[in-house]
Amino acid sequence: MSITLPTYDRLYVGGEWIAPLADETLDVVNPTTEDVIGRIPAAGAADVDRAVAAARAAFAGWAATPAAERAAFLTAIAEQLSERGDELAATISAELGMPVGLARLIQVGLPTMTFASTAGLLEDELRSEVVGNSLVVREPLGVVAAITPWNYPLHQIAAKVAPALAAGCTVVLKPSEITPLCAFAFAEICDAVGLPAGVMNVVTGTGPAVGEALTGHPGVDLVTFTGSEGVGRRIGEVTGRNLVPSALELGGKSACIVLDDADLELAVTSCVMRCMLNSGQTCIALTRLLVPRERLAETEAIAAAAAQAHVLGDPFDPATLIGPLVSADQRDRVREHIRAAVRDGARIVTGGAQPPAGLERGYFVSATVLSDVRSDMAVAQEEIFGPVLSILAYDGEEDAIRIANDSRFGLSGAVWAADEARALRVARRLRTGQVDVNGGAFNPCAPFGGVGCSGHGRELGAHGLREFLFVKSIQL
Ligand code: NAD
Repeated sequence: MSITLPTYDRLYVGGEWIAPLADETLDVVNPTTEDVIGRIPAAGAADVDRAVAAARAAFAGWAATPAAERAAFLTAIAEQLSERGDELAATISAELGMPVGLARLIQVGLPTMTFASTAGLLEDELRSEVVGNSLVVREPLGVVAAITPWNYPLHQIAAKVAPALAAGCTVVLKPSEITPLCAFAFAEICDAVGLPAGVMNVVTGTGPAVGEALTGHPGVDLVTFTGSEGVGRRIGEVTGRNLVPSALELGGKSACIVLDDADLELAVTSCVMRCMLNSGQTCIALTRLLVPRERLAETEAIAAAAAQAHVLGDPFDPATLIGPLVSADQRDRVREHIRAAVRDGARIVTGGAQPPAGLERGYFVSATVLSDVRSDMAVAQEEIFGPVLSILAYDGEEDAIRIANDSRFGLSGAVWAADEARALRVARRLRTGQVDVNGGAFNPCAPFGGVGCSGHGRELGAHGLREFLFVKSIQL
């Protein structure tokens, strides 16, 4: 299915749609058809200056706006997201390639929930406390630079913008240049609900131009970033030099430990689904499946069947379970990872690097399962960001925990066991920001983030809101 999307030639700054000072543009490509489906401004440093100035000018007024009024704006944004849900899901499917039904549920449903639930946190989170002779209050940090990736484009915007606005901060958003169209729709929503001018600003462009200018801007008080490890390091350097706080949500290489008493069929099928979601382009994807060595052959058979059930195709076809990868670069990178894994000694159980039959157009990679993977192989250490699951065999519970923690990342993980107390004991020993026990569902109100090279800071819920506040003690 082809849908027509608007071309944007303006930036949302200071409550107006203004012409960018830089006159370059970027194409937005549909990864299923390889057609150009949109064009956006490639702004520059001078555009960033204008957006930061607008956010600075709006800050004092927005910070002084009663919390209940700010909460009402968040609720109004949630309502608009819900009203425009079908259109937003279609836009995200077209620019990203995720099946439209899943996009409606996750890519739009989650941000809607985030705006609605963040509105309800303010009363508790902004309450002052008394510590001896001190009154401890929480205040908004100021102007927030929000830099987001392409894989859950609207969710990542919501996870940053909802708490920032709730806290009383003003925002300059730089969305991913690869999936930017939903960010323009989001700016339209902010405008439609009547957010005061300058509270929310959107500047599109590349990382080296807009991202760098924003990260190092002297008018920015906090940088909140989701994206790759490499760019996270760069943002850490720049903000460190400027003594500006940052929240970094980076990559992952999450392990799913299936203990010897677990329901193998259920655990492996669930792990395959959580690996392949969004064509594997999910930071918390469970990409390492750890199983008892004696159950390796059985695991491979279950994983192969589950992966083969992931029908590839057009995201607008209801039969499709996974669409293409987001770009030709991403497809080529993932295929090279598969080839390298085989060179390193891994065995392909299903899938592989070859183009999937019948899908010559579009950036498709088959759902792939690799076995005989050792923890020291690149495929077990590097984030692939594609539909590739590695199976690793372990010898005993301690060995499983050791392998799971043998990673520079620490974003997520999973444990399966018949005995929940045992699973919980193992879960507590994983060095990651979140762990799901026996298929525990994603909780959009629980703190989300990583340790180690997965970054620092937390998003979502009350913990996410606190990133945008600073604490002040007033001695009486
Ligand atoms: P990316 O790091 O390439 O880009 C992310 C954003 O940073 C984009 O908007 C990009 O334009 C911008 N950027 C690039 N260079 C920059 C620079 N020098 N300064 C400032 N900004 C710059 O990441 P991506 O390819 O868009 O997204 C995929 C990555 O994101 C994966 O590694 C994935 O694991 C990670 N991710 C993490 C989480 C999480 O919450 N931990 C969630 C989703 C994605």
